[in-house]
Amino acid sequence: MPGNIYNYRRQTMDEPKEYCGLFGIIGNKQASWLTYLGLYAQQHRGQEACGIVVNNKGILAIHKGMGLVNDVFDEQVLSALKGDMAVGHVRYSTTGSSILKNAQPLLIEYAKGSICIAHNGNLVNSLELRSYLEKTGAIFQTTTDSELIIHLMARAKSQNLPESLLYALKRIRGAYSLVMMDNNCLIGVRDPLGFRPLCLGKLGEGWCLASETSAFDLIGAKLIREIDPGEIIFINKEGLKSLRPKELQSNRYAHCLFEHVYFARPDSIVFGETVHLVRQKLGEQLAKEHPARADFVVPVPDSGFSAALGYSKSSRIPLEMGIIRNHYVGRTFIQPAQNSRELSVKVKFNLLKDVLRGKRIIIVDDSIVRGNTSRIRVRNLRKAGVKAVHLRISCPPHRFPCFYGIDFHKPNELIANRYESIEKIRQYLGVDSLGYLSLEGMLGCLKHPINHYCTACWTGRYQIKPEKKHGKFSLEARCCGQGKI
Ligand code: SF4
Repeated sequence: MPGNIYNYRRQTMDEPKEYCGLFGIIGNKQASWLTYLGLYAQQHRGQEACGIVVNNKGILAIHKGMGLVNDVFDEQVLSALKGDMAVGHVRYSTTGSSILKNAQPLLIEYAKGSICIAHNGNLVNSLELRSYLEKTGAIFQTTTDSELIIHLMARAKSQNLPESLLYALKRIRGAYSLVMMDNNCLIGVRDPLGFRPLCLGKLGEGWCLASETSAFDLIGAKLIREIDPGEIIFINKEGLKSLRPKELQSNRYAHCLFEHVYFARPDSIVFGETVHLVRQKLGEQLAKEHPARADFVVPVPDSGFSAALGYSKSSRIPLEMGIIRNHYVGRTFIQPAQNSRELSVKVKFNLLKDVLRGKRIIIVDDSIVRGNTSRIRVRNLRKAGVKAVHLRISCPPHRFPCFYGIDFHKPNELIANRYESIEKIRQYLGVDSLGYLSLEGMLGCLKHPINHYCTACWTGRYQIKPEKKHGKFSLEARCCGQGKI
């Protein structure tokens, strides 16, 4: 039977795409194996490509490939990656196309030695910098913004690593958590506003760095603390040195609030709070703001689970599994005929019909992006005999693009921009009632004051303006007529 290869993630997922996960380790002979595990624990942050660079007595070697960590690395590859320092990266492309040369870490030989970089986040002045560097003779190996940092370091007059790095960091703007390594040093950097998470851990005599603490849990490392916004950590055989250059300090932060709502693993500690507990509070608040009469609260697995639990506890309506997720769905699958969105939704989620038939249910999800998947799911619930469907979303409606490393769909594709009111969205989705968590309600569930978080994809309030020359994004922001750029 003829079949179509269906790119599940690109065409079906009505979700923002994950972006990148970082891991680094120093002082352990099993560095490549531990980095593999560290990446494995953070696979949810990027599934398009991955790579590991190891440092064996000052010589850096790399292995990277397209696909999941398990596809790219096996025992033979890991055994060949010898050394007691390593840096790893899982990637979903948010700048640069999805090709092997853009997979990270990037490993570069330059006049000052060897250096590798793994980056999470997006620079907002990358076009301007790239154009300047190209005009003045730079030749780029990739189309990613991460390579700019190395080019800038190479331009610095100083031969000293901290000074060269600071020269580069002073010239880039945007979101960046970095794990880097040269011939004898592991480096961790967080941008001045702390958009993306980056943590420091201890394993035996060695140190490690990771985007999420779940990576430390898997390898048995102890979380020491988060790298502070605007902090640079250098770790070598002599120990750990922290720098907080005055040029990178700020009196406000911009932690990505969507990490708590959707991206991070529930068992990770992000921006000082366990993600599951934050999501549970979001669900409790959602129940207060948008109550409904129902027989069950049903989570959309997996990311809606913690908020559904909170909703259930607060409303005293029992939690029930009504939607079952197939965890073995890869990035593509083969369909027997024409692409069918209906089938592609079913491939990932099935309904427990005997549980749902004749019931009034409250579905709790973390977000609605385009609404296509939610609409099909509601139709399937009706077919399964559900009497009433109340949809509750544990964040406000998404209306604006993210310039800091999250790949939402274009603003004019977002359901909250396609329909002028919540009532119109409700009608499109075919639910009995629809409730989004308010911005105030969401911010009230968090530990830090509101000026510590980025909320731009909900509010359009961008803490760092993207460069004017950033044609693609600026145009998209203008399309929805609401961007405050
Ligand atoms: S715009 Fe949204 S997704 Fe992007 S960094 Fe800010 S909160 Fe996170």
